[in-house]
Amino acid sequence: MAFKLKSEFPHGELPLNVFKSGQMRVQRPVVNAAKCAWCGSCHLFCPTGCLIDKDGHFEANLDYCKGCGICAQVCPVQAIAMVREEY
Ligand code: SF4
Ligand code: SF4
Repeated sequence: MAFKLKSEFPHGELPLNVFKSGQMRVQRPVVNAAKCAWCGSCHLFCPTGCLIDKDGHFEANLDYCKGCGICAQVCPVQAIAMVREEY
């Protein structure tokens, strides 16, 4: 079967590269800004590249964060805690 560029979600023609992957998250990263060493490792390893520089520390754009926890695993100073989403 040929690869389809378009999403098959009910919204129809939404390209996959603008799909908001944060909609299916069960946990979220919470950054302790005071502990953040501003190394950028979380941004480099995040599969969606959604951790962004906030003038001295990094924070996740929750529209795209999938809650995988990789950022918390790679943070060298344990500045990121994963907390369960409450829906
Ligand atoms: S939990 Fe996963 S998707 Fe979310 S910011 Fe961390 S590495 Fe990125
Ligand atoms: S990996 Fe940790 S210390 Fe490095 S920028 Fe991200 S939150 Fe800050």
